[in-house]
Amino acid sequence: MINEIYSYLESFFETSKLNRLQENYGGGRIFSNPKVGVAQGDDPIFQKFKEVVGPEHLTPLELWLAEDQETIEASKLRILSIVFPFVDKIRNESKNIKKLSRVIVPAEIYSVGRNYANSFKQETCRQIIGFFEGNGYKAIAGMLSKSFSIILKKNFYSTWSERHIAFATGLGTFSLHEGLITDVGCNIRLASVVTDAPLKITTRKSDNPYGNCLYYAKGICRECEERCPANAIDENGHDKIKCYEYGQKVARKIIAKIGPILKPHIRCVNRKLRPPTYPVGCAFCQFGVPCMDKNPIIND
Ligand code: SF4
Ligand code: SF4
Repeated sequence: MINEIYSYLESFFETSKLNRLQENYGGGRIFSNPKVGVAQGDDPIFQKFKEVVGPEHLTPLELWLAEDQETIEASKLRILSIVFPFVDKIRNESKNIKKLSRVIVPAEIYSVGRNYANSFKQETCRQIIGFFEGNGYKAIAGMLSKSFSIILKKNFYSTWSERHIAFATGLGTFSLHEGLITDVGCNIRLASVVTDAPLKITTRKSDNPYGNCLYYAKGICRECEERCPANAIDENGHDKIKCYEYGQKVARKIIAKIGPILKPHIRCVNRKLRPPTYPVGCAFCQFGVPCMDKNPIIND
């Protein structure tokens, strides 16, 4: 069945209008072909995520039950994680640093692609849920679930971290800049669906959470640190708060310039819906670095 799902996704990525830039940005695709991975619902790593992400992070079974699905053995659930790689055009145009009223901001084409990504990811999840239901199975998605929330304490995290879910399926590992480095690089977006369809599991090659990052694996590189305009990366890792604050500065500049074409996104924070925002990202640390579009450990 995984081959059918992949073909379905490939065709959806090709034809969906939500995966297209506007004509003045070339009208091309935002994301190239996806990658997929599958984990089993009772994988002990999901309990471990309660320690490494936060106690509110849901196991697949908790997410399933929170969506009013009938109870099921955790081992019967499958978690399908989907990688959305940004196309080369966006990656190449984003390598150069640009300044907008003295603030270093990403290329406009990336800001638009990053902003449009949310609606495309959500629709992809809906389509895959429909695919499973059409084949007689049930399915839900963390990002569409009423139990999804950002938990804001001293730090912040979500109740369903797509990066951790993708790691569980063996699609990639974490890194110095805290992105997930997959075989198609770190400049990606992620989504996932939980289903009772008996998908074949894709095993993790290693439980080492940092195996694909040149700094953690070999003590070299740190190019992401050099590219960060906010000094949010150093040898100890990525400072989420500094990164968030810089991202807000970028968003103010980009929204002032191209606000009318951006799509709103509603977030749930500490279980309450917030007013719409217009996420545009920053991601300098992902462009023009060895892990941008590949796993640098395999391709070193
Ligand atoms: S740029 Fe280098 S150090 Fe930074 S995350 Fe990528 S591989 Fe790791
Ligand atoms: S997203 Fe921007 S601010 Fe955050 S770590 Fe990367 S380069 Fe720095």
